[in-house]
Amino acid sequence: MAGRNHLFVPGPTNVPDRILRAMHRAMEDHRSSDFPSLAAPVLQELRKIFKTSSGQAFIFPASGTGAWEAALTNTLSPGDKVLASRFGMFSHLWIDMAQRLGLQVEVLDAEWGEGAPIERYAEALAADKNHEFKAVLFTHNETATGVTSDVAGIRKALNDAKHPALLMVDGVSSIASIDFRMDEWGVDLAVTGSQKGLMLPAGLGIVCASQKALAKYDGAKLPRCFFDFGDMRKANTTGYFPYTPSLPLLYGLRESLAMLQEEGLENVFARHHRLAEGTRAAVKAWGLELCARAPKWHSDTVTAIMVPSNVNGAEIIDIAYRRYNLALGAGLARMAGRLFRIGHLGDLNELMLVSAIGGAEMAMRDVGMKITPGSGVAAALEYWRTTAPELAKRELPPRAPDPQPGATAPSREKATAGAGR
Ligand code: PLP
Repeated sequence: MAGRNHLFVPGPTNVPDRILRAMHRAMEDHRSSDFPSLAAPVLQELRKIFKTSSGQAFIFPASGTGAWEAALTNTLSPGDKVLASRFGMFSHLWIDMAQRLGLQVEVLDAEWGEGAPIERYAEALAADKNHEFKAVLFTHNETATGVTSDVAGIRKALNDAKHPALLMVDGVSSIASIDFRMDEWGVDLAVTGSQKGLMLPAGLGIVCASQKALAKYDGAKLPRCFFDFGDMRKANTTGYFPYTPSLPLLYGLRESLAMLQEEGLENVFARHHRLAEGTRAAVKAWGLELCARAPKWHSDTVTAIMVPSNVNGAEIIDIAYRRYNLALGAGLARMAGRLFRIGHLGDLNELMLVSAIGGAEMAMRDVGMKITPGSGVAAALEYWRTTAPELAKRELPPRAPDPQPGATAPSREKATAGAGR
């Protein structure tokens, strides 16, 4: 099909041209004397997206799932009790992993579409006078349902109960897109992957560990080998890895971190909020419901849209893909067929997102839903043009100066610096 595929799944996300170019490298010796000049600054810079000054970042050639495993196995022992809530596919899979690793998981089940139940966490922690829970697992952004939970709230629950359990947060679909403050919120292990807010291909499982988490390493007896923090720390100290790292992804990560710093993390968060609000305006105009049951849980990286019971959401996704070259996110597990998702994270702007809203609109009409043509697109555009405060007031960047007669034209690279990725 002619034209680009419109990628609107909530990860992998669009890889900016700048990052694609940065990754386009001949392979190098990862044991050369030059290698640390790539790896060491990346490991340092990476900490900024977690907002930590005292934490240590680890990069594994893996995905977010590997980063979950690293967090658990480097800090816990067989039979340890952990407290977790389940309210979507990813919070479920993390619990499943913890159980399969031999941990005892006390599960707080909540409705899919609700956020993590902070009050119930607080009750369980307050009741645990002997501090049997060694860790609390918390999914910041449940990608399956488009729900964001309150990390500051779970930290407060731990503090109120004076509970020493480690706080482990899955930030796979939030970090580098939604506000995340590792130090301020006392997060001990923050987990992410490369293919979402970092705008890279999948292939890096990233964990950031607090000093408190690192201090648990020696006593933690769960088996680990590939994901061993000790091996990684030893090699990282001199700027190397204990095994072959993915060079293109490290070059890509360096570029991604530079781009995030150039835009400014707070601007990145504001942009994601604006994009999400426009998408939610479209859903409202279509007369449909979000899976997220209350505004406090609305996710700024993914919108999960419920479809009427006589419609199969999978059919909308299939038509969008095969007829319009648009990839939408599917309903997962118990949400299969009941919803479709629009991922709006990473390297994205308003007019790109219009293509997803317009394509979803066409596919919904194709399956017979009574959607007023253009209604979602109009609602999103009007929100962005008139309501989104920072967009409406945003100053236009200055025009490139007219070339003076006789002056040499600025190089194309300079003229387009910062414009597009
Ligand atoms: N956690 C969340 C919230 C996710 O969205 C995902 C993947 O989409 C994962 C964990 C698993 O990450 P990966 O697929 O990179 O292993």
